[in-house]
Amino acid sequence: MLTSVLSFTPEMAATVTEYCTNSSNDVSGDMKELWDWTVGEFEDSDKMSSPLQGATMQFLAQLLGAKRILEIGCYSGYSALAWYEATKQTNAEIITLELDPKMIAASRRTIAKYKMADRVHLIEGKAQDSIETLTGTFDIIFVDANKDGYETYVKQILDKKLLSPNGLIMCDNVFARGMTISTEANPHLPGKVRPYWTECGKALKRFNNFCKNDPRIDTVLMPVYDGVTFIKWKQ
Ligand code: SAM
Repeated sequence: MLTSVLSFTPEMAATVTEYCTNSSNDVSGDMKELWDWTVGEFEDSDKMSSPLQGATMQFLAQLLGAKRILEIGCYSGYSALAWYEATKQTNAEIITLELDPKMIAASRRTIAKYKMADRVHLIEGKAQDSIETLTGTFDIIFVDANKDGYETYVKQILDKKLLSPNGLIMCDNVFARGMTISTEANPHLPGKVRPYWTECGKALKRFNNFCKNDPRIDTVLMPVYDGVTFIKWKQ
């Protein structure tokens, strides 16, 4: 195989996702419950990470022995719960940032319901402002908020040296449903959301160029989910 992605139809992609999910670690009952609640509660629940992504995050958190995690974009708290469960051994502090009052309320409900307040700290407001207040370093930084902010956030993180020496930055949705690559890349993207993702694609193209060219970092863009970029300090 000479390419890194297979050409799936949407139906095949769903089947492959199900196969990979079933062949990976199961997520907990609490995560399943929160997933169902979020899907039932919010029309835009496709913003939430998938169970397979949740299992991946937990795998990575344990692999890296994360003691401090920063999450930019909390939504309903699904990924925060994934980080929380995966770091029971290391007792990690998890700082999560959220702007939208509706999602702040949902996140606060999640933090209370799953008894995460001892280690999960939600900072309300614009991520850019919240990042400025942060000190110390993080072993994992999950960038998953507004797509036109990614470049600013990662620049802030690098300039403030918020990433620990062996830490990992993980940026979700860098494909923007394919629009980062080309506006022709995804004929299946519904017309209703196409203008939104087209704009995201332009911002993420600039972000991907930034990552490729910043001399401080190593970067790999993985063709999984909606495109995930992994970043670490150059050694
Ligand atoms: N990490 C979550 C998960 O895996 O389930 C999903 C996060 S969702 C893709 C993005 C979230 O970022 C939304 O809840 C949105 O309100 C929030 N957001 C958007 N712009 C933001 C900003 N400027 N500052 C902080 N949060 C923001």
